Amino acid sequence: MNYTLNEIIDTDKKYYMNTFGERTKVVFEKGDGIKLFTPEGEVFYDFMAGIAVNALGHCHKKYTEALKNQLEKLVHTSSLYYVENQALAAKKLVEMSAFDKCFFANSGAEANEGAIKLARKYFYNKNIDKFEIISLKNSFHGRTITTATATGQEKYRKPYAPLTPGFEYAEINNIDSVKAKITPHTAAIMLEFIQGESGVNICSEDFVKEIRKICDEENILLIADEVQTGMGRTGKMFAYQHYNVEPDIMTLAKALGGGVPIGAVLAKNNVAEAFSPGDHGTTFGGNPFCTAAAIAVMNIFEEEKIVENSGNMGKYFIEKLKNMPQKFIGEIRGKGLMIGVEFNAPIAQAVKNKLFENHILVGAVHDDILRILPPLIIKKEEIDLFVEKLEKIITEEF
Ligand SMILES: *Cc1c(COP(=O)(O)O)cnc(C)c1O
Repeated sequence: MNYTLNEIIDTDKKYYMNTFGERTKVVFEKGDGIKLFTPEGEVFYDFMAGIAVNALGHCHKKYTEALKNQLEKLVHTSSLYYVENQALAAKKLVEMSAFDKCFFANSGAEANEGAIKLARKYFYNKNIDKFEIISLKNSFHGRTITTATATGQEKYRKPYAPLTPGFEYAEINNIDSVKAKITPHTAAIMLEFIQGESGVNICSEDFVKEIRKICDEENILLIADEVQTGMGRTGKMFAYQHYNVEPDIMTLAKALGGGVPIGAVLAKNNVAEAFSPGDHGTTFGGNPFCTAAAIAVMNIFEEEKIVENSGNMGKYFIEKLKNMPQKFIGEIRGKGLMIGVEFNAPIAQAVKNKLFENHILVGAVHDDILRILPPLIIKKEEIDLFVEKLEKIITEEF
């Protein structure tokens, strides 16, 4: 790198909008698998995977090769023309899921915007006066005005009023609270099967089954925000597969491009056809480069049985965490490699900082939850290393 860490921090503070507050004081120059390297050659173990993005870890050889090849051919043409990779990536996603059609956006928020627009357009076409969306408290759906409105956390909404009308919030795993919000105008129920950003809160099977039943009875669409849970994170390709229900619309983003920005909206045919030409669009979405990344990710998932590894390593990880001494441990929850450790004391930030001193990167939510999202290529030895360090920190330092 051309600059020192302090020079980079100073430049950032002067020129970059301060939306992240105090970041962790480190800069990385290279990556390899689960490892990240500083310019001084220090090694960090990445148990955050760029917020559930780097499913294949850093600089996976075949992935890098596929991106290089595409870069030398073509990056962008717009969707004014047919795009081979766009069509092929859509085909792959449709074939591996319960959906019939796909649309590519550039981020999770943008995919969710598309899903909300699609749900409203579906009823608009039918001349049915349904437009309200029910989401869950503590959900996270993005930071555009409408997806921030859908997000069931006041702190993300309050400064941006007036918000998009027509949103209501129900409680996770409380079907009566969902029923109480339903009106003749309810168009969709939107949820994360496992809430990520707010600390790994898992929807129960009964809750999801009841919601599907209500949606069928009341002519309401079920939108699954799988931006974080999708692409193998929970040990299945998509989290809805844990529940034996099929949503009407599903959104993806984070891991889909392996680090290249891409989001997707998937829907059943009867819903997808609600969009007519001109109703929705994007300049960048589904361009040859981003869809090459998605195709490479999906190919490598198949070749290297990544989803299977996520399931197996997730079980191993959670089991090991549960076998730690119970000091400070409130609850350990998760599916696959989407794991939260809830402490019964406000030590999450301090534990995260101690892990950082031990060259391990994790996340912390609120004062008491550690958020663990390793690359899906993770191996047992790396999990052993993590649990060993965490155990040492909790038993010796607090
Ligand atoms: C990260 C996330 C989003 C927002 O994705 P962006 O790419 O940051 O816009 C939406 N929903 C869920 C569940 C997420 O985890």
